[in-house]
Amino acid sequence: MNLITVKNVSKYFLQPTRMQVLNDISFEVEKSKFITITGKSGSGKSTLLYLLSTMDTRFEGSIRINQEEMLGRNNSWLADFRNHHIGFVFQFHYLLPEFTVLRNVMLPALKLRRYPVAEIEHRAMELLQLLGVGEQAHKRASLLSGGQQQRVAIARAMINEPLIIMGDEPTGNLDSYNSAAVFELFRKMSAEKGQTILMVTHDEDIARKSDQTIHLADGKIDEIMVR
Ligand code: ADP
Ligand code: MG
Repeated sequence: MNLITVKNVSKYFLQPTRMQVLNDISFEVEKSKFITITGKSGSGKSTLLYLLSTMDTRFEGSIRINQEEMLGRNNSWLADFRNHHIGFVFQFHYLLPEFTVLRNVMLPALKLRRYPVAEIEHRAMELLQLLGVGEQAHKRASLLSGGQQQRVAIARAMINEPLIIMGDEPTGNLDSYNSAAVFELFRKMSAEKGQTILMVTHDEDIARKSDQTIHLADGKIDEIMVR
């Protein structure tokens, strides 16, 4: 069964002039797959990921995630859906620098209040350990290196056990060694927890290792490679 079904999606930006950025995009994603989205700068990768993350819902066509249509939902429904089902890792990690690493990871779960605080803390520690930054847990986030902060951002994206983890060039500001390591961690997490990963990348080596690559050119799907 498909976890994500994208049908005939088009997207226009109206400012500064009307411009079509996505043109009749259709594809499907099965649960637990590792998907990469590639293409030249300006081809529409970030725009597509923002639609899929439900942070932008002004589009034509249909995006169904976990059997739910995203088009036409109001903001509070979307925010709730996101909090429960989607974890997002940005290129620049956006941790709260003055908070501890542990606090940063716990925050999305504290917001959801699905578990008692002690349990959230326990899970956050587990994730940090799994990601190799357990010893940093009680430091302020700003004291960590870029690679370490990116691992913390991944732990934070995973704390609510989302169905889907999305990243917009999440390894883009890391060197190739750390970038490969972070990619392997994504893979490991998806294998262990059955999570679906959707990652924008311009790193060909990473794309080749994913289950499926959606290649965009000028806002259209140029090629879908299934491995
Ligand atoms: P990519 O991530 O592949 O580099 P983007 O999705 O960021 O590409 O951008 C695709 C096109 O849409 C580009 O031409 C970009 O200039 C344009 N664009 C992106 N965001 C906006 C916006 N908020 N308003 C107007 N145009 C935008
Ligand atoms: Mg982009």
